[in-house]
Amino acid sequence: MPIHIEHIMPLAAGGETIEDNLWLSCPLCNGHKATKTHDLDPLTDETVQLFNPRHQDWFEHFRWSENGQEIIGLTPVGRATVAALKLNNQYLLRARRRWVLAGWHPPEQ
Ligand SMILES: [Zn+2]
Repeated sequence: MPIHIEHIMPLAAGGETIEDNLWLSCPLCNGHKATKTHDLDPLTDETVQLFNPRHQDWFEHFRWSENGQEIIGLTPVGRATVAALKLNNQYLLRARRRWVLAGWHPPEQ
């Protein structure tokens, strides 16, 4: 799957094409993120900012499930991002299942 360079703050929302606003993303996640910067935390129904990989620590907001296949949101930001980007969709789960079997996954902190 080709990797996209995505704008964390979308161009449409005034984001710039500068290193601090760019991140690598698979096309699925990038497509689900689209121009979103915020979304609902499914636990509290509050609208929160989506995870910013440039300025926030992944392990503060997410963890891997016991079998290493699902991303669990730990905070409002983490839960909203898992839901908005559909980070546990069937394609990613299938890929992660294989990565776990190969011993490549999950990544360590
Ligand atoms: Zn992805």
